[in-house]
Amino acid sequence: MLKLPGLIDPHVHVREPGQTHKEDWDTVTQAALAGGVTTILAMPNTKPPIFDNSTLDLALDAAKKKARCDYGQFLGAGPDNADILPALADKAAGLKMYLDSTFGELRLDDMTLWMPHFENFPKSAPIVLHSESRTMAAGILFAAVYDRPVHIAHISLKEEVLLIKAAKERGIKVTCEVCPHHLFLTAADSPLPKGEGLGARVNGRTEVRPRLATQKDVDALWANLDVIDCFATDHAPHTVEEKDSDNPPPGFPGLETLLPLILTAVDAGRLTLDDIIQKSVINPRKIFNIPEQPETWIEVDETVEYEIKAADQFTKCNWTPFEGWKVKGKVKKVVLRGQVAFEDGKVLVEKGYGKNVRA
Ligand SMILES: [Zn+2]
Repeated sequence: MLKLPGLIDPHVHVREPGQTHKEDWDTVTQAALAGGVTTILAMPNTKPPIFDNSTLDLALDAAKKKARCDYGQFLGAGPDNADILPALADKAAGLKMYLDSTFGELRLDDMTLWMPHFENFPKSAPIVLHSESRTMAAGILFAAVYDRPVHIAHISLKEEVLLIKAAKERGIKVTCEVCPHHLFLTAADSPLPKGEGLGARVNGRTEVRPRLATQKDVDALWANLDVIDCFATDHAPHTVEEKDSDNPPPGFPGLETLLPLILTAVDAGRLTLDDIIQKSVINPRKIFNIPEQPETWIEVDETVEYEIKAADQFTKCNWTPFEGWKVKGKVKKVVLRGQVAFEDGKVLVEKGYGKNVRA
């Protein structure tokens, strides 16, 4: 049995408030514990988005009642809220800025809307950028111009990891994360087992942002793992009905498949256990100022081989892009702040056991 610290996932879409048919604070934190994750940081693009004091309280109240593992909640940068967010920084995991895509009230149409956030948000608090390709380059320039740290979410491209490497070498305060689906899947993959023919509709299950990339990109991420600070799931559950519909929303669940996938990579000699501890515990703790969890660890049977199945998962969404994948390494037990929180497939702590990392 392998003993590891509880993992931190800095990128999770909880879906509450507003879309609790996909997930909520109860199910997402059960999924986290089942995956060996004892702290999650929640993204702000909920309905409504978390972008002022009252919406932050809405999310934190739901989390306080329902969460079974520890958590933080990000604020979302919008066109009109740069003045009010600094006062909320202490209560939040950090500030999330969506620089590419438009997400309702969190859209930032041009760089004049980025500036007040970079000017006002405390330099000691994390800023996370959803910024792909050339937009990422602009985000790194902002980090240099405003001389403050930024964390780039879910990098997926060769050009991204190479630019971050060059920026780090020049002392720019940039860190980044990678998702398992960008390490283990390419655009050529259909994330369904062979023979399961859903025709054209299967494409909905490959929809994710950033999109799955090429083998060349995946190879570059693996070749430059030392540049990548964190593993993050970008757990973004949508129901299987939504994914198989004519208008499939982008996003994959990931909390329960992260650790088995990366342990399997350790078994194959592609990663080390130290990589896991650095990228899923030590680095996210430092980047996001997350306190230590006393008497917290996970126990993993690294010899168990099994198939990933959506039917075994705690997430509400009822599917996984890794269905049928053979993996080696299973979470047997999670101890969180002295209590057995998960053991042999069962979540054993009550709703509300989770603590806000900023409390
Ligand atoms: Zn995300």
